[in-house]
Amino acid sequence: MTRIFSGVKPTGHLTLGNYLGAVRRWAATDQHRADALFCVVDLHALTVEHDPARVRRLSRQAATLLLAAGLDPALCTVFVQSHVDEHARLSYVLECTATDGELRRMIQYKEKSVRARAAGESVRLSLLTYPVLMAADILAYGTDEVPVGDDQTQHVELTRDLAVRFNQRYGHTFVVPKATRPAVAARVMDLQEPTSKMGKSHGATAGIVYLLDEPEVVRKKIMRAVTDSGREVEYDREEKPGVANLLDVLAACEDGNPEELAGVYESYGALKKDTAEAVVELLRPVRERHAELAADPGYVDQVLKEGAERARGMARPTVDAAYRAIGL
Ligand code: ADP
Repeated sequence: MTRIFSGVKPTGHLTLGNYLGAVRRWAATDQHRADALFCVVDLHALTVEHDPARVRRLSRQAATLLLAAGLDPALCTVFVQSHVDEHARLSYVLECTATDGELRRMIQYKEKSVRARAAGESVRLSLLTYPVLMAADILAYGTDEVPVGDDQTQHVELTRDLAVRFNQRYGHTFVVPKATRPAVAARVMDLQEPTSKMGKSHGATAGIVYLLDEPEVVRKKIMRAVTDSGREVEYDREEKPGVANLLDVLAACEDGNPEELAGVYESYGALKKDTAEAVVELLRPVRERHAELAADPGYVDQVLKEGAERARGMARPTVDAAYRAIGL
């Protein structure tokens, strides 16, 4: 059976980008067609300045939201990364396989390290090695497919390179995984800054729709989205990134096609109104289910405990094999 692994970082509240780019597909198809693991990757939240209590709170909230979005523990494994030691154990071995040059070339590292230095902060070594830990997350489970948004494809490419290199040097140990992307909305953009992706850890929140935003807040954010000069509703990601982003979001909500939808609208206002309503309806069941689950923390704890036990059992043989192969 195909093995799938993917995750979310608890560095902020989950966004519409996370949902449309990843989580919705995990719930709707991936968990049904494969042996799937979905992980709250809390170790990855420590690569930048963080508040320990907030990381803990956001990890729990992310896990609760994954269940609210429809992940079913009877079908898939939901767990928290730091509950399974094998991730960090394998990461070190892969650090002995990766080179510092290839890590310094990662786009996310370049962007985030430049931003940190500009803000006068020092850059943590873990920001550089983050893609190696991500490779360990994926390779520990013999993963075939990694369903992610476009922002993560470079890291999955690196994972493939490390797996191939390790296998060549030390004998076949890892399955070489591939990234899979959603048909639409693989890159949801910030509503106020439509040339940057909608990311949960960005400072300004006016351009970010969070899964737990109240309907009124969602409407306000979408109605105030930056559009482009001109009046024609056209799907042009280069020239009209704001309008194209709204069309992508609407298409993703309605399982439609953004180019065809562009022909339906005569004004930006009408497009925004329909997009806002579509997003409110899309998120309604997730918010409702989240409220129910948040009222029963014992259930979420139990799911995460069982998930970690299952994940450990799956990861250990692969990680043990990697240690043997490398000479330990
Ligand atoms: P974030 O940038 O929000 O911290 P994560 O690293 O937690 O994102 O990513 C969780 C999943 O959500 C990944 O599969 C990632 O590709 C996807 N994702 C994140 N942001 C977006 C976006 N703006 N559009 C589409 N997919 C996204």
